[in-house]
Amino acid sequence: MSEASRSAPHPKPYILGIHAYQPGKSQSASGKPLIKLSANENPLGTSPLALAALSAARAEAATYPDPDSLGLREKIAEVHGLDPALVVCGTGSDELLNLAAQGFAGAGDEVLFSRHSFAVYDIAARRCGAQPVEAPDTAYTADVDALLAAVTPHTRVVFLANPNNPTGTWLPPAEVARLHAGLPSDVLLVVDEAYGEYVAPEYQSAAFELAAQYPNVLVTRTFSKIYGLAAERIGWATGAAPLIDVLNRIRGPFNVTASGQAAACAALGDQEFVRASREHNAAQRTALAEVVTQLGNHGLSFVPSEANFLLVLFEGQVSAAAALDALAEEGYAVRHLPGQGLPHALRITIGKSGDMARVAACLKRLCGEAA
Ligand SMILES: *Cc1c(COP(=O)(O)O)cnc(C)c1O
Repeated sequence: MSEASRSAPHPKPYILGIHAYQPGKSQSASGKPLIKLSANENPLGTSPLALAALSAARAEAATYPDPDSLGLREKIAEVHGLDPALVVCGTGSDELLNLAAQGFAGAGDEVLFSRHSFAVYDIAARRCGAQPVEAPDTAYTADVDALLAAVTPHTRVVFLANPNNPTGTWLPPAEVARLHAGLPSDVLLVVDEAYGEYVAPEYQSAAFELAAQYPNVLVTRTFSKIYGLAAERIGWATGAAPLIDVLNRIRGPFNVTASGQAAACAALGDQEFVRASREHNAAQRTALAEVVTQLGNHGLSFVPSEANFLLVLFEGQVSAAAALDALAEEGYAVRHLPGQGLPHALRITIGKSGDMARVAACLKRLCGEAA
């Protein structure tokens, strides 16, 4: 080996193929702090019960947390009617998504997901040396037939975000079941329900039922979105025992902090906060959608959303880039995702009502309409 090639450690080439995840911004180009409508955080904050549990847990900072998050898993199981043995907790659902890819895919394998879906899936595939494969979507929505057509003998894992980020679109249970039924039984279907609690309550357990019935379905949830605990990094997954066993073998040994476990347990006990968050979101999302509809003659439209954000399309005189700047001028950070094939769109997280009114007024002014 030459001296030059010995001079530094060599990263794996597939790792250099990764573009690091770009988090939502919280300041303008000039460094001005902005109100974040860019990371799908809960504008109502966190349940006061969870905040109290967080403070109390600080006293125990010197001791390691429960490595198995047992109390939290029991509480999750109680709230959702699941078996706690079939629940595993993670450092955010992000850890679990990565472990699902790592546990079941590697070099020579393919990890399949839909166009315009969650940016972490591409990273999770590449991290373990697998090939990420994108199936076309239809009207910004995962297309079951296109996903099934993209399955090859190399496909090992399929990721479906439902509702999807960044589009907000949602596949009803029958479509998810049709996707599952069309997959070979040795392909793992990961249904990522980070926004599952925003969906109408009657549909919320459908994916859990699929996971309970079949050995190749994993469902993930998070405390980062409706539960307002993004800072604590807590997610969880449920699926058949052999799937949970794989994730337990490769997860971090103390992967959920003691404060996180305590706060998440308390948050699960405050379903009134969850209900209020869902209702606030639905009302404010409808209001924003109405304003965008009024601006339809200026080329604005939106993608129907079941999540806590709205993808607004700018296909007239006013560009998404111009709207991004105008909103920043107004004090708001929203998400522009040209790198994900959405240069003509902004993903706007549903915020507090006052902020949403100012966002709406800004969009109207930008279109030359009275705000
Ligand atoms: C926000 C989000 C997550 C959650 O990430 P955490 O690591 O749990 O904070 C997972 N999937 C999707 C689609 C998301 O938008």
